[in-house]
Amino acid sequence: MSFWKVEGCKAGVLTGDAAWNMLKHAKENKFAIPAFNCTTSSSVNSVLEAGKELNRPVMCQFSEGGSCFFAGKSLPNDKGVLQASILGAVVGAHYIRNVAPAYGMPIFSHSDHCAKKLLPWFDGMLEADEAFFGAHGEPLFSSHMLDLSEEPDEENIAICAKYLQRMTPMKLILEMEIGITGGVEDGVDNSGVAKDKLYSTPEDVFAVHKALSPISPMFTIAAAFGNVHGVYKAGNVVLQPELLGKFQEYATQQTGTQNPLFFVFHGGSGSEKHHIAEALSNGVVKMNVDTDTQWAYWEGLLKFYKANEGYLQGQIGNPSGEDKPNKSYYDPRKWVRESEISMRDRVKESCRDLSNVNA
Ligand SMILES: [Zn+2]
Repeated sequence: MSFWKVEGCKAGVLTGDAAWNMLKHAKENKFAIPAFNCTTSSSVNSVLEAGKELNRPVMCQFSEGGSCFFAGKSLPNDKGVLQASILGAVVGAHYIRNVAPAYGMPIFSHSDHCAKKLLPWFDGMLEADEAFFGAHGEPLFSSHMLDLSEEPDEENIAICAKYLQRMTPMKLILEMEIGITGGVEDGVDNSGVAKDKLYSTPEDVFAVHKALSPISPMFTIAAAFGNVHGVYKAGNVVLQPELLGKFQEYATQQTGTQNPLFFVFHGGSGSEKHHIAEALSNGVVKMNVDTDTQWAYWEGLLKFYKANEGYLQGQIGNPSGEDKPNKSYYDPRKWVRESEISMRDRVKESCRDLSNVNA
């Protein structure tokens, strides 16, 4: 069945039942939808362009730092208030909502990791969702992530339950994290955490399901299976996607429902293809991609610069003549576009890795 046949599917941002139906469709068909961290309208456009070219759904997401950047790095963003991060996330989500239909694909609009100290950002986004819901009958975003994985499990789960209660009337999807994704992302450094925190247990994961499923079925779990943010040389943390299968088995035994969990794969950059395939077969419906598309965006510019170095040293004068103008090389539309093309192609590669392609 084509994803276009999923109930509620349309070109533009998917929310509520339509968004959840799409994730269920992904799980049943063993593909995942990649979510790309965006920091500008340019990076959003790159993701949407790839979705349009592939004719597949894609996700755009904003981290707290990325949200602030979207609105403008110079704006005040006070600790505990995070007004620029709230503004940037809301503006970014409106931007996606407005352009997505023109690209002709179903799009998810999501916010990434939110640690305890960043909860004012989360609250601000939910207020915007509630206002949008009041006016249009659906939330502004498709989904949000809470990441209280640094807190004790009981506190983590209790805060998630509290927020899921607030999100449920709007049918917003909650992504939560249990266990810790290693490495460094968006200024959060988990490279020194104890190894056992990098692997969740079936009991840890089931505790989440037990607490959240009576509130709403619309939640996904970023469980830890040795995944690490960023790309590093092969180290002593080993990716074990087979663990996700163990979590499903345990949850199946406890609930009597076959494989009831929906997983999110963080730290997927640089993963081997067979690990990704195993993760998909164990219920991963979303995989985050940031580091690899950051590199792609940069590499597009790098290659452009190297190929045109002689034309980029001043406004006038290049290898074709001392008095020749270089405007057509340093116009930002020229070199930013090279970044966009490179990122677009990397987005398409992630879609192929996750079997998010038309057979
Ligand atoms: Zn992550």
